[in-house]
Amino acid sequence: MTFLIKSESGALIIDGKAVAAGVLEGVATEVAALGLKPGLAVVLVGEDPASQVYVKSKGRAAETCGFHSVQHTLPRETTQADLIALVQTLNADPAIHGILVQLPLPPQIDSQLVLETISPAKDVDGFHPVNAGLLAIGDRKRALVPCTPAGSLILLQTAAKELGISIAGLDAVVVGRSNIVGKPMAQLLLAESATVTIAHSRTRDLAGVIARADIVVAAVGIPEMIKGAWIKPGAIVIDVGINRVAGEGLTAQGQPKTRLVGDVEFAAAAARAAAITPVPGGVGPMTIAMLMSNTLSAARRKA
Ligand code: NAD
Repeated sequence: MTFLIKSESGALIIDGKAVAAGVLEGVATEVAALGLKPGLAVVLVGEDPASQVYVKSKGRAAETCGFHSVQHTLPRETTQADLIALVQTLNADPAIHGILVQLPLPPQIDSQLVLETISPAKDVDGFHPVNAGLLAIGDRKRALVPCTPAGSLILLQTAAKELGISIAGLDAVVVGRSNIVGKPMAQLLLAESATVTIAHSRTRDLAGVIARADIVVAAVGIPEMIKGAWIKPGAIVIDVGINRVAGEGLTAQGQPKTRLVGDVEFAAAAARAAAITPVPGGVGPMTIAMLMSNTLSAARRKA
């Protein structure tokens, strides 16, 4: 399978769909040999359309991998006590190895409290403070690592291998400091012995910081805010951003068309980078694949 496509500008385009398919194939093969069916429970509260799409594709991937897959859909008005009671039931269920509560949760629910109720051993999103702590002390064996940064690292490693370079000692800049993406990404890069800078909304001279980076991981949530001209020639660029912007023309239903773009100005960045992930088709598919991989790890530890 080829994971990298040479673009017109000469940059390698990292094919997240192909890498994710490889991860899912590996998970399915291991499940067949495990002698235990990994169980994944996904909990959705309310009817947020984007969340519904994510939850559906997570369920589909779980079935492809041969998992026992359950979905709990609760009404928008669900109380915090009821959601916590469900999580506790899933914590105690021996057929369930992974629990994912889809974010965002409605305002009457304290998301952090719910995440902290999930048993760390079943926390396949890797958001529990115990898993964040294990990652911070460099215990990758015991930590369940958040899916998006874990997937981003695999894409970065795929590109580095193809380019014949080692991540150790490279200057890496992570733009964004969220607990879900930015911070765990920085921990993973540190564990790879990169020299890591975390840039954020208060960073002065972002262009100057990025211009020094051999590796750029963008997780901001602002369409194309990272300009191609800022990218150091030969850098590897991982674009985590998924932003819906206005497209051209109308759909068959007469609605204005939309399209997805990343946090990086793709064409201009590809003209300077050695390798870059596209949006869509880069980090996105890896997130779901890593969720399956985490569920397998959780089940394997139980077995
Ligand atoms: P977030 O809103 O929690 O964090 C955004 C970060 O960007 C913040 O830490 C903030 O300090 C930083 N920031 C904001 N403005 C900035 C600026 N002008 N300069 C520098 N930094 C700035 O977002 P998140 O949950 O970390 O997600 C980031 C992006 O990644 C979003 O586009 C989201 O949709 C996407 N995402 C993708 C996946 C995936 O599967 N591919 C998963 C999670 C998030």
